[in-house]
Amino acid sequence: MHKYIDAHCHLQHSENPCDVMINAQSYGIVGAICNSATSNDWDDILALHKKCKNIYACIGVHPWEINNIKFDWHSSLHNILQNNPDVMIGECGLDKNYPDMQQQEQFFIAHLDAGHKYGRTVHIHCVGAWDRIMHILKSCGKNLPPKIVAHSFAGPANIIEQLATKYNAYFSYSPMITDSRYRRAIDALINTPMNRILIESDSDNPSVVIDVANAVAKIKSIAADKMSDIIYNNTITVLTDGQITQNAIITGG
Ligand SMILES: [Zn+2]
Repeated sequence: MHKYIDAHCHLQHSENPCDVMINAQSYGIVGAICNSATSNDWDDILALHKKCKNIYACIGVHPWEINNIKFDWHSSLHNILQNNPDVMIGECGLDKNYPDMQQQEQFFIAHLDAGHKYGRTVHIHCVGAWDRIMHILKSCGKNLPPKIVAHSFAGPANIIEQLATKYNAYFSYSPMITDSRYRRAIDALINTPMNRILIESDSDNPSVVIDVANAVAKIKSIAADKMSDIIYNNTITVLTDGQITQNAIITGG
């Protein structure tokens, strides 16, 4: 059986996340990277990560949520990262359909900063603002996170190479690519190098990543088995970025 890891999910919204993952393992889904949606769910995600070892934790403030923060999120983010060396950052980013773009940018920069300071992968949400993200990444100079994951990627194809080579970016594809109406996401996938492709559910149901993997294989004209292995190995590379031991992943921990 092939192994899959959901590179971006929201298992905190599930009633029994650990049971979901136990069930998913029977389909070969051996891990899931759980992203926070608001700072209010950081504690839940950290608790989940402690309880179910194959749920990997990301904490951050989603651009939709920047006005709903009721505590000192910034020092809390730093505290958690300092005390939890295997916790990543996300999701964070920019969304042109939401207000306060200037404030969104301040939040995003703060996340990139933390990614650099603690050496953590940053999981990015971006809708219609890749030009600003490219500008911000450039202005970070050498103070960059070790890796970025562009989640549910549907950005312009002409930035993919630069993101991959300059910013060590990985591109995660969601169930959108199984629908031919989402041409931008499909075009992006066509232009994404094989060793940079990840797959995600973007939901509380990781089992959908198998359909996503099969759709990726079809679009990239490669055998489904081979594609699944490539994606799995790419995700392992993201996870083993000095954060999580290879062993913990291989044993399904
Ligand atoms: Zn998400």
